[in-house]
Amino acid sequence: MPDVHDCLIVGAGPAGLVAATYLARFRRRIAVVDAGASRARWIPTSHNCPGFPLGVSGDALLQRLREQAESFGVDIVRGCIVSLQRGGDGFVAHDDAGRAWHAATVILATGIVDRLPPVEGGDAALEAAVEAGVLRLCAVCDGYEATDERIGVLGPAADASRHADFLRTFSRRVDAIDAEAARGLRCDATSCTVAFEDGSSREYDTLYPVLGSDAQSGLARGLGAAVDGEGALHTDAHLQTSIEGLYAIGDVVSALNQIAVAVGHAAIAATAVHNRLPANPR
Ligand SMILES: Cc1cc2nc3c(=O)[nH]c(=O)nc-3n(C[C@H](O)[C@H](O)[C@H](O)COP(=O)(O)OP(=O)(O)OC[C@H]3O[C@@H](n4cnc5c(N)ncnc54)[C@H](O)[C@@H]3O)c2cc1C
Repeated sequence: MPDVHDCLIVGAGPAGLVAATYLARFRRRIAVVDAGASRARWIPTSHNCPGFPLGVSGDALLQRLREQAESFGVDIVRGCIVSLQRGGDGFVAHDDAGRAWHAATVILATGIVDRLPPVEGGDAALEAAVEAGVLRLCAVCDGYEATDERIGVLGPAADASRHADFLRTFSRRVDAIDAEAARGLRCDATSCTVAFEDGSSREYDTLYPVLGSDAQSGLARGLGAAVDGEGALHTDAHLQTSIEGLYAIGDVVSALNQIAVAVGHAAIAATAVHNRLPANPR
């Protein structure tokens, strides 16, 4: 007989880690499998994360959330879930090491992957620009930090224009840049410079690429779960997808991509999962 968990949590970013803490505290048998690429690890310092008035880095936040889950006995296994099927009364998943995971319920907390522009100097230069805060990926998160700066918004014309309007809350100097017209991007510790096809260039204190993202919803889509136009999962008020017993939380859900939202999703979904499982009286 397979070892059947009450719940398999796929992903250990803020959403998955908080769901793990809740379910462990509900005394449920859970498994957490994580590929180790949380979007939060990109955050140099977040200033809108509740409870951190002096700000918190993404790495420090993940470490704290992980320690909290582990303090209730959660074991976070490094791996990537590559398939998910219905099996028995629940689900069976397989990871990239060939392990099978059986669970009555599944919570997907797999996030999204940002589409990023090529930066002169490659991935290392791009990461350094994000770390320096000259390349930012989330205007809701850190538009405030760009107050009164020269801001560029790079993307398909309509998206760039819409995001530029949003960023006008923070600065009068906001350009929408049609990605079709851009020919290169160079960033250093203090600014990003966009080169254009006519040979000109413009320097920005902060550049926001708005090239979209890829929702990591493939496992759910494989089971026929409903998604929005961008591949993010539709859920009900308890964060259950259109597949019975399959829940989704955090950025992979069609909602605002924020830590506070991911954490709220986690609390709701974990409680719903606990309440649907057979009672576990002391
Ligand atoms: C530069 C930057 C700055 C940001 N600043 C802020 C901020 O200041 N405030 C704020 O609220 N938000 C901020 N955000 C957004 C925030 O990081 C996300 O909203 C948050 O990380 C979402 O959490 P999540 O758990 O849903 O997804 P993630 O944190 O992305 O975690 C998903 C996890 O699932 C794993 N995974 C994916 N697929 C699989 C699979 N098949 N098998 C196993 N594991 C899998 C991934 O490896 C990853 O570890 C920022 C994002 C970026 C990029």
